Amino acid sequence: MKNLLSINKYVEGVLKKDISVLARAITLIESSKEEHQEISKQIIEKILPYTGKSVRLGITGVPGVGKSTFIEVFGQILVQKNHKVAVLAVDPSSTLSKGSILGDKTRMEKLSIDDHVFIRPSPSSGSLGGVARKTRESILLCEAAGFDYIIIETVGVGQSETEVHQLTDFFLLLMLAGAGDELQGIKRGIMEMADGVTITKCDGNNLDKAKIARAEYANAIHLFPPTESGWIPEVKTCSSTENNGIEEVYDMIEKYIRHTQSKNFFQKKRQEQTTFWFESLIQEKIKEHFFSDKNFLQRYNNAKEHITKNEISILNAVNSVFTK
Ligand code: GDP
Repeated sequence: MKNLLSINKYVEGVLKKDISVLARAITLIESSKEEHQEISKQIIEKILPYTGKSVRLGITGVPGVGKSTFIEVFGQILVQKNHKVAVLAVDPSSTLSKGSILGDKTRMEKLSIDDHVFIRPSPSSGSLGGVARKTRESILLCEAAGFDYIIIETVGVGQSETEVHQLTDFFLLLMLAGAGDELQGIKRGIMEMADGVTITKCDGNNLDKAKIARAEYANAIHLFPPTESGWIPEVKTCSSTENNGIEEVYDMIEKYIRHTQSKNFFQKKRQEQTTFWFESLIQEKIKEHFFSDKNFLQRYNNAKEHITKNEISILNAVNSVFTK
């Protein structure tokens, strides 16, 4: 990491929309060094009044569904509509494989050279919970730097969605036609979280299959319990390579925002998300607090050994850990 700046310099730089300072501030957020975390906490505190004014869009789908290609085209539409776009990635697999979605910016060739666009690959280390939390803070920094459309891309393998869902206003699920839910590894729970579904690669030989899939998914969604906001998730088809149906996805998101804002649900959902992150941090701290206590750890390990040998019930084991 380059030399650290003063906290005020980071804050000023971000607010002045200086992209290199923004990138450096995000690097601090992603760092696991205590010193860096301390600085980033203070930066976030200072930029907080300038955050919140964006559309936060989550995009998920299995590898190969066409996320990058979609974002490349969708992002250009956003720019044409005078949005400033930030693309952030959350990749749960990167912790293990050190690989990273968006690792290669050339996958979004045009978008990555656009002045109105900021693309940030996923951090390649840290626990999943940590990665999502860091993404939350990166979103805030991007908003303070004037980005008003934040895309959070995640691989739809079922681990990161719940958390990414807690970061976004609209959760878009990209699906392939004719591959079957199982094959795509998309769990029902993820479908239930989606505010919109889009069948990708609706072109060439795939056209009919995509339309059938659209109808099937629309039917499936109607069987889900009604959402709190009363919004019924829509199912679209698109082709990113032929630039078909992408604008319709934009319209769907706009419609959703109007719908939820008119019912005050938009703000309510954000408040609930803030509470979610507060609570998850509190729980993390509680855990940290206990596990840093040597005596606790010893009782914990003892109890664990006893339950694996079937010498004590789980309930008694748990009680024994918390009895001093
Ligand atoms: P990701 O892993 O979800 O980010 O998927 P990519 O965007 O990298 O796309 C995976 C593959 O599908 C690439 O070979 C793309 O060229 C192809 N692809 C993406 N979108 C479309 C599309 O709209 N139509 C067709 N025919 N192919 C597409």
